[in-house]
Amino acid sequence: MSRGRTIQCSFCGIAKGETQLLIAGDGAHICDRCITQASEILAEEIKLKKVNSLQTSLKLIKPSEIKNHLDQYVIGQDDAKKVISVAVYNHYKRLNQKIEKDEVEIEKSNLIIVGQTGTGKTLLARTVAKILNVPFCIVDATVLTEAGYVGEDVESILTRLLQAADYDVNAAERGIIYIDEIDKVARKSDNPSITRDVSGEGVQQALLKILEGTVVNVPPQGGRKHPDQKMIGVNTSDILFICGGAFDGIEKHIAKRLRTQTVGYKLSDEEKDIDLENLYKYITPQDLKNFGLIPELIGRLPVLSYLNPLDKSTLRSILTEPKNALIKQYKKIFEYEDIDLQFDDDVFDFIVNKAWEFKLGARGLRSICEAILLDAMFEIPSKKPKDKTLRITVDYAKEKFDKSDINKLKAA
Ligand code: ADP
Repeated sequence: MSRGRTIQCSFCGIAKGETQLLIAGDGAHICDRCITQASEILAEEIKLKKVNSLQTSLKLIKPSEIKNHLDQYVIGQDDAKKVISVAVYNHYKRLNQKIEKDEVEIEKSNLIIVGQTGTGKTLLARTVAKILNVPFCIVDATVLTEAGYVGEDVESILTRLLQAADYDVNAAERGIIYIDEIDKVARKSDNPSITRDVSGEGVQQALLKILEGTVVNVPPQGGRKHPDQKMIGVNTSDILFICGGAFDGIEKHIAKRLRTQTVGYKLSDEEKDIDLENLYKYITPQDLKNFGLIPELIGRLPVLSYLNPLDKSTLRSILTEPKNALIKQYKKIFEYEDIDLQFDDDVFDFIVNKAWEFKLGARGLRSICEAILLDAMFEIPSKKPKDKTLRITVDYAKEKFDKSDINKLKAA
């Protein structure tokens, strides 16, 4: 603005003579320093907007897209994938809604997944977190105890998430926590005990608040709270909890319920189709209660899904098909040595059959592959001249496997 005759910057008031440049606009002026400052503010704002919009778009990946991603890493388990995709989508929609201050409040959709060990529960949770690019951690319910007992406080769950988020509290508050072996904190008897149950019901009680949403003071380095430690407040209302467990023996409860439902009636066509090999798929919250989870906890895990046991053909697919399938990983390892690793087709059957025979499930596939390829991985890096290809035949696989420790497992 010009006052009298002196022309000066309308923003900082500096006189024209003291600037390098003064640009004139409609009745106003701006100096070079103010332009630089304004440009910095602008750049900062644009950056912030970009981050925010990135976060929003990450959150709002559509359920079908989430499932497509999951399909690349997890074989089968279509029902669970669908349920998880929808629950996760709704959860992050709920977060957006909070920002928009809508009146109808969408409730939190924490999940519980039931399925035998090694069927992909952790893998599903981990993959979802990866797709959404949110902090993720796994905790084992068996190490948790009520405050004051030997073991880890329930708050330690949040310490892990904070660590996974590099202590970025905002990021942690939108993360995903996978609580494994939730079945191990089930009440041992159907009667609520008068004395406190350290490992079971007490932990379930302690979990309630965290699952529901509350501000928890978290010791940043974990361990016991002590007066000198500075606490970090973490609000858990937007953290998505996924609980998993094998619930060994829950089939009994499911079968009993299915039977009592049908006793005295003629079986309907639908009931005749009951798949007795996989009763998990009929699981209801009632079965979880009969197994020993307290109703309040079940209420805070409103989305229930199940995983199918893995059959041989699924194991075979797991070995070769996912984006980072084991076989692809081994090929990559050898590629670094300029060697083309090839497998005869029946080697895959051999590996699957061994995993099956030893009841090792999908986890066993890796140990078996390791046993077969260990010698080659040991010798090849220092071998000169190197072969261009390494072909694994079933005889080769069998020979290496037979002399491995894992084979001795069976003998023992
Ligand atoms: P759980 O949590 O159910 O005990 P995990 O998710 O830890 O089992 O699975 C153990 C391993 O087995 C995973 O790392 C993965 O390599 C493999 N796996 C299990 N199920 C599947 C599946 N459905 N698809 C692909 N890989 C699987």
